[in-house]
Amino acid sequence: MKQQASEIVQILKQRGLRVTPQRFAVYANLRSRTDHPTVESLLIDINAEAPTASQATVYSALQALRDARLVREVLLEEGVVRYDANVAAHHHFRCRCCGTIEDIPWESFQDMSMGSLRSGLKPENYEVTVSGVCDRCSATSPIQA
Ligand SMILES: [Zn+2]
Ligand SMILES: [Zn+2]
Repeated sequence: MKQQASEIVQILKQRGLRVTPQRFAVYANLRSRTDHPTVESLLIDINAEAPTASQATVYSALQALRDARLVREVLLEEGVVRYDANVAAHHHFRCRCCGTIEDIPWESFQDMSMGSLRSGLKPENYEVTVSGVCDRCSATSPIQA
């Protein structure tokens, strides 16, 4: 745990970020989870450990981390911004029942062809969102599965 803390401090410094308790807490929290939390959910989690952060401080920490490209925003639902500390290329699975988003490794979809795009469109990047029902939801509501 201690080693992880110094690694996080190191990463923040490497990106030219001043290490503040909020930035540290937000980044450490995001790195420790894969559920793509919203600001609200991050705030609850961070304050469970040390009740010091406000939504505004968490939000500004997220902005700084995003600008330093340590964190990305994931927008899969209208009006809902979720955050992801996995900034490598990857795809997402979204459960239509509980809204949970989980990562799908980039290699899962091989050879996505852009050949059928109409001429004039120049693809630069893409990302696949698979929607469906996660295992937890299909276990609790067999009717929907
Ligand atoms: Zn689900
Ligand atoms: Zn992700």
